[in-house]
Amino acid sequence: MAEDPRRGIPRTDAVLADPRLVAAIANLGQSAVKGLVNAAQARARRGLADPLLIVEEVLAALPEKATTLRRVINATGVVVHTNLGRAPLSEAAIAALVEAGGYVDVELDLATGRRGKRGLATASALRDAVPGAGDALVVNNAAAALVLATTAYAAGREVIWSRGELVEIGDRFRLPDLIASTGVRIREVGTTNRSSIDDYAAALGPDTGCILKVHRSNFRVEGFTAEAGVAELAGLGVPVIADLGSGLLRPDPLLPDEPDFATTLAAGATVAIASADKLLGGPQAGLILGQTEAIAMVRRHPLARAMRVDKLTLAALEATLRGPRVPVDQYVHADPGQLRERTERLAAAVGAEVVESSGRVGGGGAPGLELPGFAVALSESVAARLRTHRPAVLARIERGRCLVDLRCVPDADDDLVGQAITDALRAG
Ligand SMILES: *Cc1c(COP(=O)(O)O)cnc(C)c1O
Repeated sequence: MAEDPRRGIPRTDAVLADPRLVAAIANLGQSAVKGLVNAAQARARRGLADPLLIVEEVLAALPEKATTLRRVINATGVVVHTNLGRAPLSEAAIAALVEAGGYVDVELDLATGRRGKRGLATASALRDAVPGAGDALVVNNAAAALVLATTAYAAGREVIWSRGELVEIGDRFRLPDLIASTGVRIREVGTTNRSSIDDYAAALGPDTGCILKVHRSNFRVEGFTAEAGVAELAGLGVPVIADLGSGLLRPDPLLPDEPDFATTLAAGATVAIASADKLLGGPQAGLILGQTEAIAMVRRHPLARAMRVDKLTLAALEATLRGPRVPVDQYVHADPGQLRERTERLAAAVGAEVVESSGRVGGGGAPGLELPGFAVALSESVAARLRTHRPAVLARIERGRCLVDLRCVPDADDDLVGQAITDALRAG
């Protein structure tokens, strides 16, 4: 270039006044847009961009949204997919969440104008869902619930815990480390494969704060095994905390090995704990249900304030409990006949074959349980192109093939998946 490229570069305020960028600022914020303007000016100064096209440069570089989290269509067949944020919320829960984004009466009684108790409506929805529960408390996640309940019952004392249930829940988070970090001493009983009621009874002493019973939600123990149930443990006369993991409210015949709140409380657990974003299909939260006095004691603990959930969670959870059937429940119980029909239609549209494919509950529970279903089989290399497609489609790779499983795809998105496959095959 013959001329000095620095000449004619428009000033920042002049660029930002362009109506197209005013609109972008409304969406993305002043500093994000200004940063891109300054970067474009810097490129122009070095002669790398046309000074007259700064706005166009910025528009081309604008992100779509103020968040970098991107929508992913879950074509893995794994319902509660940890890497995809576990449970997808129901439409009703999403609507509740959006509404709660503004000012809401979360701690106000509109009738009297007085301060109201936080979380009452959600606790009442939980009590209605589990009639055997006197009360309920909602905290950040099940790990928090476990810390809170165990601390409330055994701070400075012992929790009795079977060696067969000292679980790592994932990403190197180990429940025994979590509990030990609170200063509660762990009194291990039994062995990896077998623990009996006598093992627990022998460990009881003046230092016993509570017994902890943890569901093996991500692994199975088979063969020569034995464990003491909640009813037996409750008979020992010490508070029993039961960590259910998955959050089933009542028994589900399809998931016979998953514990549920109703049965566990009826068996005599003092409090039962679970995640809200696994099989319950709600937002991330930890649920603590139990007798009224037990929950009151947990709620009074100072740590409870540090673990309380926000209005968004309360709203989404209430809508999950009171609203229509949640996606997780639909996907776990998807009808194989309908899955086959949809998969055949998709396969025909993209010119691929249908194979049998087992879905999974996933990180949410029921380890090893296969949910019968189908998938469109593609060559393995398609998976990466589907992943980087917009919207992203996450398939499952199995034995050198890319399997597209519609179990966790809402029917309405079948065509989107078809389009993504067509695009991916064309790009290959
Ligand atoms: C998933 C799980 C947890 C942890 O739940 P978060 O809600 O992720 O904190 C704890 N215990 C069991 C048995 C689990 O399955």
